[in-house]
Amino acid sequence: MIPFLDLKRVNDQYAKELKEASDRVISSGWYILGKEVQAFEEEFSAYCGTKYCIGVSNGLDALKLILKAYDIGLGDEVIVPSNTYIASILAISEVGAKPILVEPDLDTYNLNPNLIKASITDSTKAILVVHLYGRAADMDPINQIAKDYNLKVIEDGAQAHGAVYKSRKTGNLGDAAGFSFYPGKNLGALGDAGAVTTNDKDLADKIRALRNYGSHIKYENIYQGYNNRLDELQAAFLRVKLAYLDAENNARRDIASRYLNEINNKHILLPNTPAELNENVWHLFTIRTIDREKLQKYLAENDIQTIIHYPIAPHKQQAYVDLNILSFPIAEKIHQEIISIPISSVQNTRDTDAIISIINNFNIENGVVK
Ligand SMILES: *Cc1c(COP(=O)(O)O)cnc(C)c1O
Repeated sequence: MIPFLDLKRVNDQYAKELKEASDRVISSGWYILGKEVQAFEEEFSAYCGTKYCIGVSNGLDALKLILKAYDIGLGDEVIVPSNTYIASILAISEVGAKPILVEPDLDTYNLNPNLIKASITDSTKAILVVHLYGRAADMDPINQIAKDYNLKVIEDGAQAHGAVYKSRKTGNLGDAAGFSFYPGKNLGALGDAGAVTTNDKDLADKIRALRNYGSHIKYENIYQGYNNRLDELQAAFLRVKLAYLDAENNARRDIASRYLNEINNKHILLPNTPAELNENVWHLFTIRTIDREKLQKYLAENDIQTIIHYPIAPHKQQAYVDLNILSFPIAEKIHQEIISIPISSVQNTRDTDAIISIINNFNIENGVVK
């Protein structure tokens, strides 16, 4: 079986350094908010090009902390794409605000800037942009709208560590960004972890307190905060892996470039991104077909593991029963047709060859995907 993502092989490459990192933490005698977290924060903010980085517990908490720090809550509305991973939307509802879903562009799978204005009301406070599948969203028009309407722009960078938009990296494209370092992300810890990046000092200071019970000074609480800290151990692992992030992203790009050049099947629609190959970090390589179930079954029979990102649109989830009556045809079409094929920094040429030729031999009788 060609695995979708062989995490053991990814981390085995760095086993020696990861063990050194854990030894360093164990023998330091200091396990929460110490030198490793501080060093990782400096290294990741330098990587993204931002002034500040705050290590936190996970990606969902990173987004929640940004919304909280901006005092976004009950009665406020936040614009978010209708085809994102559910965590982007959970962060909005967790602070008591209302997610306002806006359709993506079918060519990029990212928020369609042309549809944002129609959804802005007096209650709109922010646009939560998701750089889905590793491709940065079209930020210039989004930032312009935010400026015109006095809205915050919050990036969900969980799938796009290192992706570039007009020579700037994700994390540095809006007012603040939330990152996840869940093990399967492009930059993955060995457990849960996340971060906020921003150039806004006041916001950074507030999030630093909010992640730690609302306190800058022990036992002095200025906010009703959370326990949303990044562990020293995970920070030490992330420092090891950050050094290899660009190499891993380049390995993904090489595979993506082969898929884009060599998959040639009228029943399969490839992502529409060739000009931006160097900008995209290909967290996922998604293709579309009108008979997705058949394709997934065919690939499984041919020993290729696939995953669907995502099978159910957020507004169709039981958790959001209030949204179930809404209709988002573009998001629904994507959710019906999309399927992710294997891509990772450790996938070898033989497996990539096999995936390409097996996909090129896929056939369905009735029609092509549009
Ligand atoms: C993974 C992910 C998150 C959540 O990150 P966690 O660390 O699992 O909380 C948020 N948004 C997107 C788009 C993601 O892919």
